[in-house]
Amino acid sequence: MHTQILEPRLADVGGIPIARLLPNKGKQPIAAWCFLDHAGPAEFGEEEAGMQVGRHPHINLQTFSWMIDGEVLHKDSIGNEQVISKNQVNVMTAGTGAEQGISHTEQSVFPDSGGSQHAWRGMNMVQLWIALPLDQKIERNFHHYPKLPEWTEDGAEFVLATGRYTTATGAHYEAPTIQYSKLIGLDVNFIEDATVTLTLEAGCEYGILMVVGDIEYQGNTYHQDDLIRFAVINEDDEKSIQITAKKGNRFFLLGGEPLKQKVLLWWNFVSDNKEDIEQAIIDWNNHHPRFGDVDSDLRRLAAPALPEGFHE
Ligand code: MN
Repeated sequence: MHTQILEPRLADVGGIPIARLLPNKGKQPIAAWCFLDHAGPAEFGEEEAGMQVGRHPHINLQTFSWMIDGEVLHKDSIGNEQVISKNQVNVMTAGTGAEQGISHTEQSVFPDSGGSQHAWRGMNMVQLWIALPLDQKIERNFHHYPKLPEWTEDGAEFVLATGRYTTATGAHYEAPTIQYSKLIGLDVNFIEDATVTLTLEAGCEYGILMVVGDIEYQGNTYHQDDLIRFAVINEDDEKSIQITAKKGNRFFLLGGEPLKQKVLLWWNFVSDNKEDIEQAIIDWNNHHPRFGDVDSDLRRLAAPALPEGFHE
């Protein structure tokens, strides 16, 4: 099976180590997953506020937050206020087209600042964007998924964050998570030294993000924040792979059907054409009602102009 290793660009955003895996050196998204940041793991001091992301807009995409540890408060322009905790998913849909769009804030919360009693004073989160299919008319919305399908097999705990999945032994699971194109997101956490079997579907492409520690796949070792990219699975390809790791190591399988459209990214915007992005920059910077307003004291971030030579 043809694979590629994508290495992260590392950044420090307000004291939180971020590994950015997508977009990656001109590589196309993996299915509709077009942006991938792994934030943390990071522990915050008593004086530190943790993550504080000010008011900013999105178009033509969903933000998908997979919380591994810690808690984050989400507030958006359609009136949602939602704390996301460990093993939960938040999905915010910006909608498609020139009339749609959404804005939001995200901030760490602790037991003394709106978090639950056991909230860790730190963060480990995978944040992804999903490009929306632009041939569908999609309205803005927000969903919180506190409970997702989970099971234990082969010495690992699995949580299905989105999509449908049939295990190697034939058990079938389906996540409630809203989708507009076929996607899968599966968290795998080793509870002992073990080898797990992952099943893959023909017509889908996949990536494995190392979230904690190392794994072994086909005799190679992959390290934290590596992203292994698998080419689209053909009918005559092997439909399962084996991954070996030690207790405590963890990865996230993402995948789905490739989108049949171009995916351009600039700042917090996605589209298949430059004009939509230019319009969104103008609209946001001029307080257009398509982006609403968020009830928050956090600062409002300004949209930067498209650089010269931004190409389609
Ligand atoms: Mn955002």
